[in-house]
Amino acid sequence: MKLCMIGTGYVGLVSGVCFADLGNDVICVDNNVDKINQLTKGKIPIYEPGLSELVIKNYKNKRLNFSTNLKKSVNDSDIIFICVGTPTKKGGYTADLSQIYSVAKEISSSINKFKIIVTKSTIPVTTGDEIEKILSKKNSKKKFSVVSNPEFLREGEAIRDFIYPDRVVIGSNDKKSNRILKNLYNPLISKGASYLSTSRRAAELIKYASNAFLATKITFINEIANLCEKTGINIEDISIGMGLDKRIGSRFLRAGPGYGGSCFPKDTKAITATADKFKTDLSVIKSVIKSNKNRSNLLLNKVYKILNKKIKNKKITFLGVTFKANTDDMRDSPSLTMIPALSKKGAIITYYDPTGFKKEFSKIKNVYNSNTIKNSLDGSDLVIIHTEWNDFKSLNFKNLAKRKKFMIYDMRNIYFPKKIQDQGFKYYSIGR
Ligand code: NAD
Repeated sequence: MKLCMIGTGYVGLVSGVCFADLGNDVICVDNNVDKINQLTKGKIPIYEPGLSELVIKNYKNKRLNFSTNLKKSVNDSDIIFICVGTPTKKGGYTADLSQIYSVAKEISSSINKFKIIVTKSTIPVTTGDEIEKILSKKNSKKKFSVVSNPEFLREGEAIRDFIYPDRVVIGSNDKKSNRILKNLYNPLISKGASYLSTSRRAAELIKYASNAFLATKITFINEIANLCEKTGINIEDISIGMGLDKRIGSRFLRAGPGYGGSCFPKDTKAITATADKFKTDLSVIKSVIKSNKNRSNLLLNKVYKILNKKIKNKKITFLGVTFKANTDDMRDSPSLTMIPALSKKGAIITYYDPTGFKKEFSKIKNVYNSNTIKNSLDGSDLVIIHTEWNDFKSLNFKNLAKRKKFMIYDMRNIYFPKKIQDQGFKYYSIGR
C-alpha cells in the first residue's frame, strides 16, 4: 500500500513511521518547509521517545519519505491520511477546521485514481460529510471514499500506543475501503488490538467522547483531592480504593495540576460546541472545563499560602514545565498559567525541563531556564514539581542544593511525604 500522511506533526509523523515500519511505502507531507528539511537530514522536530531511531531506519530503507509537494504525494498514493491540527478557534470553543478544509481542497484537485481519504485528525461529528462535499465538487463519488479513523496515541508513549493500540476504529459505510483499512491494520489487530467498524459519524464522536470522559475522570479525582486536603485523608488511598472497582479502573485517577496538552483542553471545548450546535447541553463536560480552568488558580493560591503571601523577590524553581512527562509539548500546560501569574506578583522563577528552553516564557519577566536540576535549585525558596519526569523521581535534595532551606510543593505526588520531611524539608503535595 502507498500511504500519504498530510501533516507531519505528533500524529502524522508517528503514525507514518509506524506504518512504514510495518512494511508500507509512506510519504509524509507538510507545508512547513523547515520541518521537512530537518526530517530529510535525520533531525526530528519533536521530542518523542524512540521516534528518531525509527525515522532514520525507515528513511534509510526508503520506505519512508518526506515532501512539501502535496499534489504529487497524493497522486502517487492509495490512502491519504489527514493529520493536520484542529485547534480551538480564537475567542470560542469551536474547533478551527481551516487546516482540514484547506487540505481537502488541495486533495480535491489531485485525485487521479480511486483514493481513500482518511481523517486521523480529531474532527467534530459531520466534518467527514463536509469533506465529502468539497471533494465531490471536482470528482465523481466513485473516485474517492472518506473514512474516519481517529487516533488514540498519547504523546510520550506514541510509538507503543500506535503499535499496540487498545482499539482500531474505522468509520465508513463503504465496504471496499473498510476491507482495505482492516488489511492495513491487520498486523496490529492480529497482535490483539480490538477492531471496531462503525459509521463515519460514530467514529468521529467516539474520539471526542473518549477524551471528554478521560478529562472528566482527571477532573473528578482532582476535586476529590480538594476534599481530602480539608479532611486529612490521603488521596492516594481513595484512588487505589476506587480503582480496585473494575467498573471504574485505576488509570486517570491521579490527582495533579489539572489536564493540559494538545488534546483534552481543545476537545472538551469542541464537543460542547458541537453539542450546542445540535441543541444538546453537555452540562457535565462544561463543568469539567470550568473546574479544570480553576485548577491552576487553586494551586496558585496554595503557593501563595505556602509563601505566606510574600511573593515579591521569592525564588521559585519549576521542575518540569510540559503538560506531562516524555514530551516537549507545551500546549495548554498548567505552567503557562502559573509561571506568568507568579512573575506578575514579583517572583523570580527558574525552570528546568528535560526538553530544554521554552520560547513560551522568553518574554516573561524574571523567568530563567536552567540547564541542570542542580543549578535550578540554587538559592530557591520554593521548588515546585510540576511534571512527573522520571528525572525528578528520586532526587536527593539535600545533596543537590547548596541552600537547603527551600520548601517543596510536589504537584504530582511523586514523593512519600515522610521521606522528604525526614531530610528536613517542608513538603506539600496534592490531596494528602
Ligand atoms: P501538530 O500541530 O503537531 O501537526 C500538524 C501538522 O500539520 C503541522 O506540522 C503543520 O505544519 C501541518 N499542516 C497544517 N496545514 C497543512 C497543510 N495545508 N498541508 C500540509 N501540512 C499541514 O498536530 P498533532 O498534535 O499531530 O495533531 C494533529 C491532529 O491529531 C489534531 O486533530 C489532534 O487533535 C489529533 N490528535 C493528536 C494527538 C496528540 O497526542 N498530539 C493524539 C490523537 C489525536
